[in-house]
Amino acid sequence: TIIDYGIGTYPARRAKIRGDDVAISFEGEDTTYARFAGRVTRLANSLKDLGVSPGDRVAYAGFNHPALLETFFATTLVGAACVLVNPRLAAPEVEYILRDCTPSVVFFGEDQAQNAERLRAGTDPEVRWFGVDDGGFESLLAAGSDGDAVVPLDEDDTALIMYTSGTTGNPKGVMLSHRALLFQYFNAILGEDFRQDDVNLSVAPLFHIAGLNMLAVPTFMMGGRIIIHRRFKAAEALRALAEHRVNSAFMVPAMLDAVAHEEGFDAADLSMLRNLMVGGAPLPERMFTTWASKGISISQGFGMTETAPGIRMLDPRDGIVKAGTAGREHFFTESRVVDLNGEDVAPDEPGEIWAHGPNLMTGYWGKPDETAAVLQDGWYRTGDIGSVDSDDYLRIHDRMKDMYISGGENVYPAEVENALLNIAGVAEAAVIGVDDDRWGESGVAFVVLDPGEDRTGDDIRDDALTRLARYKVPREVFVVDDMPRTTTGKIRKNILRKTY
Ligand code: ATP
Ligand code: MG
Repeated sequence: TIIDYGIGTYPARRAKIRGDDVAISFEGEDTTYARFAGRVTRLANSLKDLGVSPGDRVAYAGFNHPALLETFFATTLVGAACVLVNPRLAAPEVEYILRDCTPSVVFFGEDQAQNAERLRAGTDPEVRWFGVDDGGFESLLAAGSDGDAVVPLDEDDTALIMYTSGTTGNPKGVMLSHRALLFQYFNAILGEDFRQDDVNLSVAPLFHIAGLNMLAVPTFMMGGRIIIHRRFKAAEALRALAEHRVNSAFMVPAMLDAVAHEEGFDAADLSMLRNLMVGGAPLPERMFTTWASKGISISQGFGMTETAPGIRMLDPRDGIVKAGTAGREHFFTESRVVDLNGEDVAPDEPGEIWAHGPNLMTGYWGKPDETAAVLQDGWYRTGDIGSVDSDDYLRIHDRMKDMYISGGENVYPAEVENALLNIAGVAEAAVIGVDDDRWGESGVAFVVLDPGEDRTGDDIRDDALTRLARYKVPREVFVVDDMPRTTTGKIRKNILRKTY
C-alpha cells in the first residue's frame, strides 16, 4: 500500500500541532519544531536537487548532532534509505560500510574530516560529500526550497540501514522499512512512559538503534524536547539530568555505571527521572541497587538492531520485584523461548529467544544467506539465550556464541561476570570459554581493578570460589588495564579470545 505517514513527515506533523515548542537543545542552541520541520523540508529538497531518489542511500558518519536527525528525516522523506555510520570506527571499517551500502551522498562530522579525505579518494567520484562542521551541510540545506518534499512511498520501502554493533564480528547492514520503524515507535510509546511535556536526554549514540528508536524519534512524535550531547561524558550527563530535570533517557549499562560513579551522584536531585531505559548489554545487579537508592527504577529493555530494537522491556512499576529481568513483551511484538527443535521450553528453562512482529528487519543488506539463517517463517532468531519465569518475565542469560559447556554443565559468562563484579575492588569483568583438556571447556576471566587495588588474579579467583559453583569459577583470572569495548561499551570478546 502507498502510505502518507512516512517517517520523514513526523517533524512537520508535530510542527502543525505545536510549532513553537522546543524540539532540540544542542550546545546552547534551541530549535523549535517549526524550525526543525522547515530545515528537514529544505534538506529534503536539496537532496532531490542532487538527484537522490527513492531506493537510494544517504549516509551520515558522525557523533550525535541535530544534523544527524535532520538527515534521517529528510532522507526518508524523499524515499531514500538513511545509513547511520559509527564515527568511532577506523577508516578501513567505515570504508567497508560505505563500499557495502554504496550511498550517493555522504555527510560527515568534524571528527570524520580526515577519514573523509581518505575515503573520498578511494570511492566512487560520483558520490557527493558534505561536512557538517565545515559549513557544507548548512549551505546545502540553505539552498533547498520550502516546497513540499514528500514523495509517495510503500510501507515496505527501506527507511533506515543501520549496522549492527560489530560485537561478534563484522557489522551487518540491517534494513528497516517505514512500517518496521513505525511499529517500533508504537512499541516504545505504548510501553515506556513518554509524555508531551518531557525533557529527554540523548547521550547514547544516535547511530545505534536504541539511541535513535527508543528515545529520539519517540520523543519527537510525542512533542517533547530532547537535549543532545555530542558524546557521552558522565559528568555532563549527570549535570544535565539534574539541571534540566530530565524525565526520560536511554543509556547502556556502561554509561549508567559511569554516571553512578560520578562525584555528586548521591547528592544530585534526579527526582524527575521517571523513564530510565537501559539495554544493549548485560546489566549487573549492583546497578539496580545503586539507582534504587535514589528512588529510580530502571526499565531494562531487550532487543537488537534487527528488531528495531523493541522485543521486551520491564515496566518500572515492576522494577522492585522483577529487577534484573527484561520484563514482558512490547505491544506489537511477540517472543518465545525455544529449544534446539524450535519447541517452547518450560518456565525458567533456558532456550533461544525468538521474536515476531511488524518491527522486524526486512533482512541484511546484500546478505541473503545470513538473512535466511536468522529470519524464518516470520520469526527472527536472536542468538541470545534467556528464560521466562512463570509470570512471563524474561531473564537474559547470554549470547549463544558466548555460552560454554564445562564438564557437561552450561555456563553463562554473564552470570560469572556478575559474581566477579560483586567482589570488592573489581571494576570490570569479562569471561570467555576456552578449550580445556579435562572439562572440554572452561572459563578464563579478565578483570580491571579499582584504582589503587593491588589484589592478584589468584586472590580474585579464591574469592569467586566462595560465590559460585566450582564449575563456573574461571580457571584463570587475568588482571588487565582496560577492556576492548565497542562504542556503546560492549566488551568485544572476540578480541579477548585472540589475546588469550
Ligand atoms: P553484532 O550483531 O554485530 O555482533 P551486537 O549484537 O552487539 O553486534 P546490537 O544489535 O547493537 O549489535 O546489539 C544487540 C545485542 O545486545 C543482543 O543480541 C544481545 O546480545 C545484547 N543485548 C541487548 N539487550 C540486552 C540486555 N538487556 N541484556 C543483555 N544483553 C542485551
Ligand atoms: Mg547481533
